[in-house]
This record gives sequence, structure tokens and C-alpha cells, in this order.
Amino acid sequence: MDRIGFIGLGNMGRPMASNLVRKGFPLVAFDVKPGPLRQLADLGARAAASCAAVAGDCDLVVTMLPDSASVEEVLTAPDGVLAHLHSGGLVMDMSTIDPLLTDRVAAAPVGRLASHAERGESLFMVGATPEAFARVTPLLEAMGTAIHHCGSVGSGIRTKLVNNYLAIVSCGFNAEALALSQRFGLSLEKTLEVVHGTTATNGQLKIAWAAKVLKGDTEPGFTIDLAHKDLTLIVDAAAAAGVPVPIAAAARGAFTAARDEGFGAKDFSAMVDVLCDRARITRPRLP
Ligand code: NAD
Repeated sequence: MDRIGFIGLGNMGRPMASNLVRKGFPLVAFDVKPGPLRQLADLGARAAASCAAVAGDCDLVVTMLPDSASVEEVLTAPDGVLAHLHSGGLVMDMSTIDPLLTDRVAAAPVGRLASHAERGESLFMVGATPEAFARVTPLLEAMGTAIHHCGSVGSGIRTKLVNNYLAIVSCGFNAEALALSQRFGLSLEKTLEVVHGTTATNGQLKIAWAAKVLKGDTEPGFTIDLAHKDLTLIVDAAAAAGVPVPIAAAARGAFTAARDEGFGAKDFSAMVDVLCDRARITRPRLP
């Protein structure tokens, strides 16, 4: 069995790595923060002192890091993973990052949210050779319920960006629609009942928002900061590919403003609270 390393134990990585330990995978873990590392060690993982130590002890290293810069550092720095992984070792980066960086490493970005990761119900979009895909499949099965082999390296992260375009931009227009509904003084329950009965609705509004902001819960989940990062990846990747995405660019402007107003660490469904506060409208809440 491959010896597994796991670097990045945040909102997503900690529950995913915990599921691997619970399901019997011997795991070596590392995070720059001692708190989550201790939690993993309490479950039975071995805590490593550095990325290099993880790579030196493992055959397959999983990374779940915030952004492109941290992935590049962890993988390619002189004391990073690639410099210390033995030949035949495999890296599976699961972060949402610049696809051009992914083209240089193997990748399996993650769909669904931290709550799904806790329950071992993540969705994976894998870009890998058939051999590498076969090798990582048992791990992915231990952490998720839907595993998609999207094609060669880079196709997983590109599928993820298409998915997140829809999920994040829809948060932007859901926010505007519900702010308008609040300003009109409409019944929130009736408005939702109407739109959920037509083609106007969307998964964010119907599933995610019902469990988050509309219940008054804006703790992340998936933060406005991360959504802003993903929109930037989407706009930049589209520009590099010569595809005009004016709606994504406008949504990024809205998320930039939300960060400026101090909402960066809130769940991305809190975009509606940003607009309502700005227009002095009551935030929409279901009883
Ligand atoms: P997070 O910020 O909660 O966790 C990132 C972890 O990486 C932190 O614990 C941090 O200490 C650690 N880290 C940062 N730099 C490091 C380094 N150099 N060495 C070791 N550890 C380091 O982020 P998250 O919510 O877990 O998201 C991780 C990735 O998954 C992001 O790319 C995000 O876009 C993507 N994602 C998130 C969600 C979600 O719902 N939160 C869903 C799908 C995908």
C-alpha cells in the first residue's frame, strides 16, 4: 500500500485527512498551524515537522492548500515536496489553483463543501493518466462519494473552474434578486416558493442558501475570500484562453467590494447581507 502524506489541514483538508485515518490509511500529516496537526495526530496520523519530511516518508502526497502561491511553494521550493519525493512518488494536489500551475503537477480538485468533506461525501474532478487515476482511486473513495476522471492532467482543475463559475456567479445574482425582493417588501417564503417552482432557481439558492444565510448562519463553509480567489482564477484563465467572461468579471467586482467591507471571512452566501446592509434593507431570513 502507498504510504500517504497529507499537507494542508484547513476547513477541507482536516476532515478529508481524518476520513483517511478513520478508514485505515497510514497517514503522515503536516500543516504550518499546530492546532489541526495535533487533531490529526490524536486520531492516529503521524505529525511531520515539514513538507520535506512528509515527502521523504511517503509514496503519495496529497496537498489541500489555499491558493496557487502556497501550492507552488509547498511543491517546488528547495525544501519542498518534489525535491524530496522518491522516483515513482505521486503528488495529488486537490486545491483550487491556476490551471497553468496544475499543468506542471498532478491534480484532483474538490467539489462540494466542507460539510460534505466532514461526512466523506466530497466530489472529485481528477485530471491524471489512467495509471495515476487507478492509484489514487482508493483514497478518493475513502473521502468522497463521486469521482470523475475528467481527462489528462489539468482537465480536473479546468472542470472545477467551470463548476465554480456557475456556483459563485449564481451567489452574486441570488444576492441581488433577494435584496430586491426584500426592498419590495415581498414575503421571502412566498418568493422562494415561486422561484423554486420555475426554471429561475439554482442549486445555490435552493440547497446551499437554505442551509446557510437564509437560516442566519454565515460561518464558512466556503469563504467570500476563497470565492474571490476562484473568480480571479476564472477571469484570468478565460483571458488566457481568449474567452470573454464579462459576467464573471462583474461578479468579481462585487466580491472585491464585499471583502473591502469586511465580509471576506464569511460564507459566500453572505453576499446578500452585503447588499442588504449597503442599501439598509432587512437581511433575508427564514423562520
Ligand atoms: P483553509 O484556508 O481552511 O486551509 C488551508 C490550510 O493550508 C490551512 O490549515 C493552512 O495553515 C495550510 N497551509 C497554508 N500554507 C501552508 C504551507 N506552506 N505548508 C503547510 N500548510 C499550509 O482552506 P480550505 O477551505 O481548506 O480550502 C483549501 C482549498 O480547497 C482551496 O483552494 C479552496 O478553494 C478549495 N476548496 C474549498 C472548499 C470549501 O468549501 N472550503 C470546497 C472545495 C474546494
